[in-house]
Amino acid sequence: MTFKDLGLTPPIQKALYEEGYTIPTPIQQQSIPILLKGKDLLGCAQTGTGKTAAFAIPILQQMNVRHDSSKGRRKVRALVVTPTRELATQIGESFKVYGKYTSLKNTVVFGGVKQGAQVEALRRGIDILVATPGRLLDLINQGYISLRDIEYFVLDEADQMLDMGFIHDIKKLIALLPGKRQSLFFSATMHPNIVALSRKILGNPERVTVKPEQTTAERVGQSLYYVTKKNKLGLLTHLLQTREMESVLVFSRTKHGANKIVKLLAREGFQSAAIHGNKSQRAREVALEDFKKGKIKLLVATDIAARGIDIDELSYVINYDLPNVPESYVHRIGRTGRAGSSGMAISFCDAEERSYLKDIEKLIKQKVQVIHEHPFINDNLEKDSEVPERTHGHKRRPKPNRHKKSSGKNNYWRKRNDRSRKSS
Ligand code: AMP
Repeated sequence: MTFKDLGLTPPIQKALYEEGYTIPTPIQQQSIPILLKGKDLLGCAQTGTGKTAAFAIPILQQMNVRHDSSKGRRKVRALVVTPTRELATQIGESFKVYGKYTSLKNTVVFGGVKQGAQVEALRRGIDILVATPGRLLDLINQGYISLRDIEYFVLDEADQMLDMGFIHDIKKLIALLPGKRQSLFFSATMHPNIVALSRKILGNPERVTVKPEQTTAERVGQSLYYVTKKNKLGLLTHLLQTREMESVLVFSRTKHGANKIVKLLAREGFQSAAIHGNKSQRAREVALEDFKKGKIKLLVATDIAARGIDIDELSYVINYDLPNVPESYVHRIGRTGRAGSSGMAISFCDAEERSYLKDIEKLIKQKVQVIHEHPFINDNLEKDSEVPERTHGHKRRPKPNRHKKSSGKNNYWRKRNDRSRKSS
């Protein structure tokens, strides 16, 4: 299914196209048709599933169809209430992006900052308001905002809203909304108190439930060995000798490095083949065939050469060198653990590669588990990895190893594609 199949109007389609969106996410596929029919929606979905676009697109489309910019001052016709200023800002930006080719205007109000600029934006006139509850009520009480003309109301992240103690504010807001409106209610969980709140807001809603997709980084087992450059081969042969590895794809950052690994492995009695851009097409095909048939268990590749490799039962990926482009890490480890099978990705990290590791962990939003027991353990490298960094003369505390799950909050689909395109 594409966005075209969802019956979107040209101004919205054009904006989505420019953003690089072609395929709607599951929550978008399910919610957009319901919302375009004007029905209420109870959505059980988290940030990272594409939920903002799922509600922003149909609201923009419906409002734009019935919008006549020549008719006097703008009135606030859509209200999105969300718990934090970060979320409010993101949602406001999304409305701007998706509504780029409509004549609709939006603004964001949240607490913790002076209200002057927000009041000024409201005075100039807006159609869509994104707000956190406290500041919204404040500005209503001061007479800067009226909810009289609201046609679309979204309560976003309802469970977080209750956790943060906003229940009374929400109830006050609901009491101010006109009875005739389309209401949308989103929450990551559906505890009884959430369901009770949703009943106060929604008429007879359609339900949509979407679980966030497991990212590659979550699906594949990952581990990391701190090791000096010089000891990498020793560690690789140690792992090959001590673990049962059916098929291993070893990644090298450079073509020269890949050739060298093959040579050194041969010296240690391991047969392998390299595939990279300097090898002829024929040589690459033969190496790949041999690998697929199990004639050789080890294939050494560069990132670019590995792009086309499609092997279903690859048991291990070894990052002999960490990639300097963090997205390449995700591509690499995605070569294993395919089609639901569990894969393992092992990475070596020498002193110079620390910054690459940092970028990778930032991208995958999790810490890679460090293996402390191996024959090539290097105390300095291990210790250094725990030393707080100094930035601009201030001591920075080391970040706790929280093994945080990916929230998938950043533009997962698009940015990943963009960056991998650039890096190829
Ligand atoms: P959200 O769950 O709304 O926070 O969205 C997560 C991220 O996915 C945002 O950065 C969006 O820009 C992006 N996104 C949402 N829908 C799509 C789509 N259909 N195609 C590509 N990216 C999308």
